[in-house]
Amino acid sequence: MTGGVASSLGKGLTAASLGRLLKQRGLKVVIQKLDPYINVDPGTLNPYEHGEVFVTDDGGETDLDLGHYERFIDENLTKESNATTGSIYSTVLAAERRGDYLGRTVQVIPHITDEIKRRIRLLATDEVDVVITEVGGTVGDIEILPFLEAIRQYRLDVGRDNVCYVHVTLIPFIAPSGEHKTKPTQHSVIELRGRGIQPDAIVCRSDEPIGKDLARKIANLSSVPPEAVVNTPDAGSLYEIPLVIHDEGLDDVICDLLRLETKEPDLDEWRELSHKVRSADQPVRIGLIGKYVSLVDAYLSVVESLNHSAIQLGADIEIDWIQAEDIEGLLVSDRLKDLDGIVIPGGFGERGIEGKISAAGYARENDLPCLGLCLGLQCMTIEFARNVLGLERAHSTEFDSSTPHPVIDLMDSQRDVTDLGGTMRLGAYVAQLVNGSQVAELYGEEVISERHRHRYEFNPRYRSQFDESDFFISGESPDGRLVEFIELKNHPFWVATQAHPEFKSRPTRPAPLFLGFVESALERSAKRDSRLLSDETLISE
Ligand code: GLN
Repeated sequence: MTGGVASSLGKGLTAASLGRLLKQRGLKVVIQKLDPYINVDPGTLNPYEHGEVFVTDDGGETDLDLGHYERFIDENLTKESNATTGSIYSTVLAAERRGDYLGRTVQVIPHITDEIKRRIRLLATDEVDVVITEVGGTVGDIEILPFLEAIRQYRLDVGRDNVCYVHVTLIPFIAPSGEHKTKPTQHSVIELRGRGIQPDAIVCRSDEPIGKDLARKIANLSSVPPEAVVNTPDAGSLYEIPLVIHDEGLDDVICDLLRLETKEPDLDEWRELSHKVRSADQPVRIGLIGKYVSLVDAYLSVVESLNHSAIQLGADIEIDWIQAEDIEGLLVSDRLKDLDGIVIPGGFGERGIEGKISAAGYARENDLPCLGLCLGLQCMTIEFARNVLGLERAHSTEFDSSTPHPVIDLMDSQRDVTDLGGTMRLGAYVAQLVNGSQVAELYGEEVISERHRHRYEFNPRYRSQFDESDFFISGESPDGRLVEFIELKNHPFWVATQAHPEFKSRPTRPAPLFLGFVESALERSAKRDSRLLSDETLISE
């Protein structure tokens, strides 16, 4: 799958939706993203630049599109599902240094393109029927050329009927003339052909439906059969995209091209989901206390997890994006008064920390549901240490190396590491939950696994002081060394985890902690409504 005309067309969602449709036809699907940038992985990228870093079970720090893929096809992917130009060059350069190329000149073609093809082939195991490979960026970008060359060659390697090319493009609407325009699409198809790739299907993204005539025109000018030109206008919700794509017949076209004999896709579950999305109407206001709030994509999986729970519970969530550094100290309470719950998400760096700590305290004292994720757990621990246990200036050594009470600290094994790559606890780790705890109740089991991405941990030296209070350590690593879950006794929901459960939430299987949190927020919202109502009755009486 390639993209034309503009970026941010929702190519990832298109790939994910197509994947789901093929899966519902009984095929085993994996999806891969090839990213043209030179960073070895997105792990060191600022979320402002590139949105969230999505973490896979095997500890891959990957592009956020992998989140869409996993959520839509409901399969766990591996780090092999994401390859960047940087990682491809790293492999080739390491081989060159080892002398693997026996003195030959190492070149983009064939060495880089061979490595790209190897990365694609890695996913094509015997169990898999279809690999969807999304080439990031836009046709015409300089850095995309080796990828286009590799996918062009791939068809020669594995045979015509085993590869098809889907091109996703934009059909802009020109307001003054009141028309959708096909010219940019024509040009991007020409550009693609110039690289030796004739698209087999074209997905036209547009604001409104473009109509059959225009689709036929695109088919004609691009030498693509009319049924292989499909239109996906902006959808009301992203859960409608697979249904739109199916109505347009793209999955049929792809199965024909690849000579895959399948049944019609079973879309009952997905239709029910999109129906639930439309009918969810219980208002609930959630504050997201973040650092990167001006780029919504920085918290993509958190927001999606909230949505999954909301859909299941019939809640219509309104998110209040709260810049943590704006609400330091007292200011916090005003901003939080009208909320039904707050989420303190993960993050790195000191900016906004005091705001997050204040927010955690406000939630604790005011029975406001509060969900802490990774850094969120750390902030809630610091807040409790300072304000309940009386450990003055308690902090994480990430933010204050000379704190008298390092309640959050590096574990000894990590202390000497200075390289920023590869020093984190990354990927899936098992936790043992305490029988009868709120979290065990929510998970419905006591041994669970969640994904991690952090360096710092709850400091076990302070464990006994916390244990004597209402602060309840409700989940630990199996060896009992690491704190994984905390909750507060006598509070509706003040729960946090050192993990990132947002990476495993799926539209039809919301992450348990999010479900518990949204449920608790809904209760608060209902109570507030009834309070408002009784206030009104009082006034009218
Ligand atoms: N900065 C914290 C740590 O490294 C939290 C990381 C996170 O929230 N992902 O431990």
